[in-house]
Amino acid sequence: MNAAVTAPTNVALDVHAVREDFPILKREVYGKLLVYLDSAASAQKPRQVIDAESAVYEEEYANVHRGVHHLSQVATDRFEATRTRIQSFLNAPSADNIIFVRGGTEGVNLVAQSWGRAALNAGDEILISTLEHHANIVPWHLLAAEKGLVVKGIPIDDDGQIDMEAFRNLLTDRTKLVAITQMSNALGIITPIEEITRLAHGAGARIMLDGCQAVSHSAVDVQALDCDFYVFSGHKIYGPTGIGALYGKSELLADMPPWQGGGEMIARVSLEGSTFKKPPHRFEAGTPAIAQTIALKAALDYVTDLGLDRIAEHEAMLLNYATERLSALPGITIYGTNPAKASILSFTMADVHPHDIGTIVDREGVAVRVGHHCAQPIMQRYDIAATVRASFALYNTLEEVDALVASLEKVRELFA
Ligand code: PMP
Repeated sequence: MNAAVTAPTNVALDVHAVREDFPILKREVYGKLLVYLDSAASAQKPRQVIDAESAVYEEEYANVHRGVHHLSQVATDRFEATRTRIQSFLNAPSADNIIFVRGGTEGVNLVAQSWGRAALNAGDEILISTLEHHANIVPWHLLAAEKGLVVKGIPIDDDGQIDMEAFRNLLTDRTKLVAITQMSNALGIITPIEEITRLAHGAGARIMLDGCQAVSHSAVDVQALDCDFYVFSGHKIYGPTGIGALYGKSELLADMPPWQGGGEMIARVSLEGSTFKKPPHRFEAGTPAIAQTIALKAALDYVTDLGLDRIAEHEAMLLNYATERLSALPGITIYGTNPAKASILSFTMADVHPHDIGTIVDREGVAVRVGHHCAQPIMQRYDIAATVRASFALYNTLEEVDALVASLEKVRELFA
């Protein structure tokens, strides 16, 4: 260990108490206690979420919105309570602004296929950035091919931050949508969404924010942000898979056509035609992820009770410590060095292939992600094939950072 680097001691979040909430953190991998540094891909679940989901099946499971019977009404109330919880979590004006989706990917596709298909015309431009996850790139490519739209990429600086001058130059009266991530999943960079939103609106464009990564690290206020759309996935904020949310401004949702047809989203159906419910139900065809949705509320309650500020402070401490320790290792290059970042450390190690690093550290019980992280434009920007990504969550410890460093030292010995 580098003697100059000392671990901070006055940690506000009681991480050891928090860890007791996550049963999986007690398991071993190859005989070593699991060190889970892949929460940016999907976060582990606290007992509160696991219990909430199994309680649905044990005590109050039925299909929602359809039954007059007691259980269906109980399930519907609990299901809709999550919508209200997401409303308060994002500070949306009404629960009707919240559409349940499978996750961030489905949220972006909904905006593209419903709003985009109706509102955009040939020649209109969509601005995305080099930092986007494929989930916020490919849906726009699909729509562009169908409608003759132009998708343009905002470049990033060497330090991983969005090049704001380039953004200003790309923003014209042809720009109809700016679709941007609030936090890069590959680099951890936090983008200046307030300024980007202000500039986008100034140019007459709509803005959609991808909050999949950011939402578990900082409080979000969609009204203060004034964004038109906001998406996030439940599984990255300690909730179940299969459920996420799309926030949309009321005036936009009101005019958006359905994007999937089926049960639940209709007002009336005859063999000749159908009419549709108001938002949000217009966009929710079919039986939803009932238990997962109900349990998402437990996840939002969990992070709110712990305090997003304290979580962010804890993760910043881990990130700073990890950055210092990794920087002291020979051959390490860190990508995304702009100070506006959270919780993610993306790096390469001299000539060692990231997949070899991932495999070797896994044998030490350390779970990191290697590859392009569904963000190939970033890899192209830095002319690399892949990085190793360690991502930190509220349950990670300084000792786990030490375990990562020790496992990387093993890699170095093997490849020396
Ligand atoms: N955007 C970002 C920034 C992400 O990190 C992810 C997930 N890695 C997504 C979108 C897609 O989320 P999901 O796979 O949960 O739909």
